[in-house]
Amino acid sequence: MFKKILIANRGEIACRVAATAHRLGVKSVAVYSDADADAKHVAACDEAVLIGPAPAQESYLRADKIIEAALATGAQAIHPGYGFLSEDEAFAVACAEAGLVFIGPPASAIRAMGSKSAAKALMEKAGVPLVPGYHGDNQDAGFLRMQADRTGYPVLLKASAGGGGKGMRIVEKSADFNAALASCKREAINSFGDDKILIEKYLTRPRHIEIQVFADAGGNCVHLFERDCSVQRRHQKVLEEAPAPGMTAERRNAMGAAAVAAAMAVGYVGAGTVEFIANQDGSFYFMEMNTRLQVEHPVTEMITGADLVEWQLRVASGEPLPMTQEQLAIDGHAIEARIYAENPEKGFLPSIGTLRYLRTPQAVAFALSASVALKDGDENGAASGHVRIDSGVREGDSISPFYDPMIAKLIVRGKDRDAALARMSQALSEYRIVGLATNIAFLKRLIESKPFSNAELDTGLIERNQNALFPAMQPASIRTLALAAAALLDSERSGRSAAGDPWADTSGWRLNGGLQRQLDFSDEENTYAATVRYRPGGWVIRLGAASSMMTLVERDASSLTVKLGGETVRGTVIRDGDAFHVFAGGEHRMLDYIDPMAHAGQAEAEGGRLTAPMPGKIVSVLVGKGDTVEKGAPLLIMEAMKMEHTIAAPAKGLVEDLLYAVGDQVAEGAQLLSFKIV
Ligand code: ADP
Repeated sequence: MFKKILIANRGEIACRVAATAHRLGVKSVAVYSDADADAKHVAACDEAVLIGPAPAQESYLRADKIIEAALATGAQAIHPGYGFLSEDEAFAVACAEAGLVFIGPPASAIRAMGSKSAAKALMEKAGVPLVPGYHGDNQDAGFLRMQADRTGYPVLLKASAGGGGKGMRIVEKSADFNAALASCKREAINSFGDDKILIEKYLTRPRHIEIQVFADAGGNCVHLFERDCSVQRRHQKVLEEAPAPGMTAERRNAMGAAAVAAAMAVGYVGAGTVEFIANQDGSFYFMEMNTRLQVEHPVTEMITGADLVEWQLRVASGEPLPMTQEQLAIDGHAIEARIYAENPEKGFLPSIGTLRYLRTPQAVAFALSASVALKDGDENGAASGHVRIDSGVREGDSISPFYDPMIAKLIVRGKDRDAALARMSQALSEYRIVGLATNIAFLKRLIESKPFSNAELDTGLIERNQNALFPAMQPASIRTLALAAAALLDSERSGRSAAGDPWADTSGWRLNGGLQRQLDFSDEENTYAATVRYRPGGWVIRLGAASSMMTLVERDASSLTVKLGGETVRGTVIRDGDAFHVFAGGEHRMLDYIDPMAHAGQAEAEGGRLTAPMPGKIVSVLVGKGDTVEKGAPLLIMEAMKMEHTIAAPAKGLVEDLLYAVGDQVAEGAQLLSFKIV
């Protein structure tokens, strides 16, 4: 076994590899960019080396810097994680030339699977089933159209060098072929510098089922069963599970054998995934092979008890596979949900910012070491192996515009699919994040949706169920308002700050028994005027026609129990400025408190300090020093996450000074200009 490895990655995968290395007594070296100096993965490793500025091209993609760091720290091997350099043939070669072990397949296997067309030709020879179509060298437009006609419409055009769904075009009929071909080739040459394309029969309602394979240098190769990754949006995986619902033992063996044949055909060593596309009747075809560890590998670990990173380290250091095909078995059902900083309601737009408050469901960060922890009936099950969170961030960290906005992978296991689903939906409702938009509520709706819980899986599931998955926003209930109001009133009464909010202390209030006041809240669609009348021991809260006596039963740092009429309501309220985040009944609602007094002060306070809401770049300055502007006038435009954000005047005022120019990078919270309200 290695003594020291370097992890050429960041985020959750780097933390995950470090955890296994640590358990095996292998020292780990992190690499990091300027943006990641305080990142969790740096803390998770024994040593760390700075390799460059934030943009990945200047850091995590710099093979030379990474190899230099490995040599300087005396690492014997490099684990590439996924993404970045993990499927870069030249990097694998460069590692070998530097005398370092690349923890992955031989460079020749990466090359063989790098082109979809060449991989298909190889697979055809190995007897692996292929989607009907054409993947040859003849790229003459007339010839290709003939091949499409012969295959039968609809067909799918793919860039041979493609990835990430780029270049893919569905062609419905022969008359549309030429135009689609031209546009596919255009995108292929722009994205991959290669306009070779292939034609596939376009399957309607297909499932994405992939097989985890593992091979050692001694020519042994096993498969660790399948994962179903059919739930996708824009060809990107959202939920992954194992085993695949409805899979028969017979078909599993057939797919497993095909995947092993695919790996053997390219002399594979290490962890790999053979992706298949399957019809509803179960017939399946080879799609491509990913020559690395996959994001969704934990579901396989949860049902087999194997630690795939441990297997990678053992195999790369020359040991044989830890288990034979006969020793491997499926135990239970596992599901993974990818928790992203994104806004599903706004077309899944990435969201960046700081994780101001983060509470995860009862889980162990990573505890696969003891496979006994995976047994049902274990009293500590919930905390020891049924819920797993792989994450590269902690409370207080930010999701930056430089890298993938994934916050965590939440993986659960149950004795069967229903048990796993119930556990997932419970875990999602316990996940609490304040500071940026997340897809948690969307994932919960998806997990609980009829088609998913009935396992009616295909790659169009999300699109077909738009209405159920994106329901119209309901007005906040009196329970939600009561929790927000109780949190506010209690912090005023006790003069105690609500979590993380220095402004909450409004001890200037003199509260008489008979005082009545109005509390105004709003969300994206509604405003709520709650009337509160102070009573001994509590308040009477009234919203519209509903009115209830409300008493605060219990409050600790963040959770509240309120008695509302005859009902007991429990929840967590986190105040972030004027925003009250209420987590209750498995829901997260955000209510903005409209406090006229605070606003008067705040406008002044903010007047002089217009700050950047997120890190980004100034793309346009629309005013000059000395300009007087009206309230709402655009002052400057920032670009962050490829989106433009306009900074507007909070009130009528004077631009006293401009602090940044076009092209400047700004940090979150940086003062952008000095502004005086007039
Ligand atoms: P990429 O490498 O660009 O990600 P893939 O070949 O892996 O492309 O395909 C990505 C996704 O596109 C699949 O998971 C599936 O949802 C869809 N897809 C691919 N091929 C077909 C096909 N022949 N018919 C229908 N859908 C397909």
